Amino acid sequence: MRILIVEDEPVLAGQIRKVLSGQGLAVDLVTDGVEAYRAASARAHDMILLDLGLPKMDGMKVIRALRADSIDTPVMVLSARNDWADRVAGLDAGADDYVTKPFRMEELLARVRALLRRKAADQNAVLTRGDLVYDSRTNIVTVDGETVNLTANEIAILSYLFRNQGRLVSGAELARFIYANDFNLRSNTIAVFVNRLRKKLGSDLIKTVRGRGYVIKSGK
Ligand code: CA
Repeated sequence: MRILIVEDEPVLAGQIRKVLSGQGLAVDLVTDGVEAYRAASARAHDMILLDLGLPKMDGMKVIRALRADSIDTPVMVLSARNDWADRVAGLDAGADDYVTKPFRMEELLARVRALLRRKAADQNAVLTRGDLVYDSRTNIVTVDGETVNLTANEIAILSYLFRNQGRLVSGAELARFIYANDFNLRSNTIAVFVNRLRKKLGSDLIKTVRGRGYVIKSGK
């Protein structure tokens, strides 16, 4: 994990660097807005801690410039501006979190961890295979940018196979998952659902291993 710190107050910058390094995080430190934009564009960071009042380029402008370039690195704003309007403007500009100075290092660390976790969860939430994109947060499936309408059972099967990608899942296991409280396991119904999914999503996504079950291959 690599974090970019943008802070022009040397004492505070040094403290933040020390605390984050102590957590095993790699840290880059820059002290003005132009350097921040350059550093964030030049290499991938997992997060940017960004002061707003910066020499050369205001922090808000840095966020807008990065978002305009489609650089979506999570940004946590560190600012003495405790004004409600500034906070909203920061979030509107594309910041992901906002910490008001002065803050305790424990709070900063907790929020950094939370944002890194959120980022990891977001990356795992969207699954792609070729032209197909499945967003497990919204349960929206698109193929080649077109939304595909799926029934609740079809979504349940797709999400279960994606969560177990790379593993052969039997029809009975899928039936147990879908009809959690139903004693009559209907694995032949599962075959019907899977066939519908293959018709809607293309025949390559879900492999059928005759008599044994179904699998979505891992990888892209
Ligand atoms: Ca400052």
